[in-house]
Amino acid sequence: MSKLYDVIVLGGGPAGLAAGLYAGRARLETLIIEKEKEGGMIIQTEEVDNYPGAVEGETGPSLIAKMIAQVDRFKTERVIDTIQEVNLTSKIKVLKGKKEEYQAKSIIITTGARPRLIGCPGEKEFIGKGVSYCATCDAAFFEDLEVFVVGGGDTAVEEAIFVSKFARVVHVIHRRDELRAAKSIQEKAYANKKIDFIWDSEVIEIKGKGLVSGISIRNIKTGKITNIEASEEDGMMGVFVFVGYDPMTELFQGVLEMKDNYIMTDINMKTNIPGVFAAGDVREKSLRQVVTATADGAIAAVQAEKYVECLE
Ligand code: NAP
Repeated sequence: MSKLYDVIVLGGGPAGLAAGLYAGRARLETLIIEKEKEGGMIIQTEEVDNYPGAVEGETGPSLIAKMIAQVDRFKTERVIDTIQEVNLTSKIKVLKGKKEEYQAKSIIITTGARPRLIGCPGEKEFIGKGVSYCATCDAAFFEDLEVFVVGGGDTAVEEAIFVSKFARVVHVIHRRDELRAAKSIQEKAYANKKIDFIWDSEVIEIKGKGLVSGISIRNIKTGKITNIEASEEDGMMGVFVFVGYDPMTELFQGVLEMKDNYIMTDINMKTNIPGVFAAGDVREKSLRQVVTATADGAIAAVQAEKYVECLE
């Protein structure tokens, strides 16, 4: 029989690492299961200046490296595995992974969210061939090229600024005529000479031969369709998509209460199932930031500790 943990934290982003830290400090037998690499979406961020205590020049990866080192000091175990099936309703919670089966008295779900797709023809076909969802990962490939950034939120505008360090020109395509991004972020983008804006527009097709070499955009107000081709000299262009995120909750559909696929919790991170908690971007909440994710993780771990104590 596999080891019985007090707490299994599913997901190794900021919420999961904070939960692992608090559970480890409480001397609970704790395991963090992460499917790829710890850090979650913040490791794609080049500059973190809104996490209290982050030093100037702090990046997503540097912040996460410190969180991992801190978790490791408290003997919280960490494993890489992909969970494919869960049984959360029994007293002992069971998680079946690709590699192993795991058991715990309580579970903290911190699976986060993944980038949303535009959903237009050509988008999936050209992922990694001109279409990207991660500026930190891919911006350098577009040195001196023309790039289109889709979206008008904090992520789109911040990433447009980052991409402009490499690209010759960055066009932000937004479906409305005003940005959703915070004013301070907008100001930086408006002041950036390499960035311009294509308002009231959506991308309806991404085209190319092997690599992206053209896009079609439609003006939502006028219906006018514009086809844009890469210059012969460039031969290709970049399309960075930042139109929001979808929570990773497929495993819990029909089991946990959700709203728009986000897990519903109370203020103590409790879900509708005793012993099952959710923290971070995966839960229904008003502000999805590293600072709120880590706070959620801490609360969930303290509540899990109380829950496990009551079982004994
Ligand atoms: P978001 O705030 O949900 O913004 C998504 C953007 O994409 C919106 O401008 C939206 O347009 C547009 N959009 C949505 N679906 C679309 C579609 N199908 N086609 C075209 N455009 C579409 O997402 P986000 O910018 O990724 O931010 C997510 C959360 O992280 C937010 O809470 C944000 O504040 C936070 N965040 C904070 C920071 C920071 O504080 N430094 C940095 C990054 C992210 P509409 O505006 O018309 O809805």
